[in-house]
Amino acid sequence: MDWEARRATRRSTCPTCGVIFAPGSSEAMPFCSPRCRSIDLGRWLNEEISLPVEPGDEEAWDLDDFDC
Ligand SMILES: [Zn+2]
Repeated sequence: MDWEARRATRRSTCPTCGVIFAPGSSEAMPFCSPRCRSIDLGRWLNEEISLPVEPGDEEAWDLDDFDC
């Protein structure tokens, strides 16, 4: 395998859309484009927001603080 062929096989796969691209052609590594990078970032943030509430919050509902 010569050097040019080896370079041609160096490709990256975008984690967001799965497209195969040349690493040198992207300005948003490891994503194929800044758009895919922001999509992945948004996915992360959504997962953090949708995490269950802190332990102990459910118990608070059983307290009769409203009788004061
Ligand atoms: Zn992509």
